[in-house]
Amino acid sequence: MRLLVVEDDRDLNRQLVSAFEQAGYAVDRAFDGEDGQFLGETEPYDAIVLDMGLPKKDGLRVLEAWRKAGKTTPVLILTARDRWSDKVEGFDAGADDYVTKPFHLEEVLARLRALLRRAVGHATSEFCCGPVTLDARAGRVLVDGNPVKLTSHEYRLLAYLMHHMGRVVSRTELVEHLYDQDFDRDSNTIEVFVGRLRKKLGIDIIETVRGLGYVISSPAKVQGQGK
Ligand code: CA
Repeated sequence: MRLLVVEDDRDLNRQLVSAFEQAGYAVDRAFDGEDGQFLGETEPYDAIVLDMGLPKKDGLRVLEAWRKAGKTTPVLILTARDRWSDKVEGFDAGADDYVTKPFHLEEVLARLRALLRRAVGHATSEFCCGPVTLDARAGRVLVDGNPVKLTSHEYRLLAYLMHHMGRVVSRTELVEHLYDQDFDRDSNTIEVFVGRLRKKLGIDIIETVRGLGYVISSPAKVQGQGK
């Protein structure tokens, strides 16, 4: 999962980015409305955290521009405590949720997880496929109840496929959602990560669809295969 943080307060931007990275997301950052709008229009983020008070172009105008351009990416807006009208205008412009400053990072993380799973029609933060459980809240993966230690890239890859269970995901799409923009991207590494994941999980829930990409089938189908 890849996120964008648009916040002009440098300290706050850094805090958000480091909390998101620790939680296992790839993160890009922008410090003003123009850069933020450009990134949101050109990069395929899974969710965006957008401050309302921004230099060059305010958050509301940025959000309106994204929605006008047909971007449906979930957007969490950051509003000042005394600006209740920000929330109303923000929702009307297409925001999906908001957090009031000052906030606890835990709350922002919880709201983001909710946005990400709602975007794919999933009701809880646990994703299961056969014996494999991905707990997006704790950021961990269990096989038959036993924790499996994954690197952040392996975790992101598995999380992305599990959020999109039942759909074939191309290598290009994986690359776009696993790495931030500064990362030296190489779609061949995806194959390496998939190989390592299969080994660590000890069960092959990730299917290769030749020429198309990878898919984790819905739990029913995987259980059915064993019978
Ligand atoms: Ca601001």
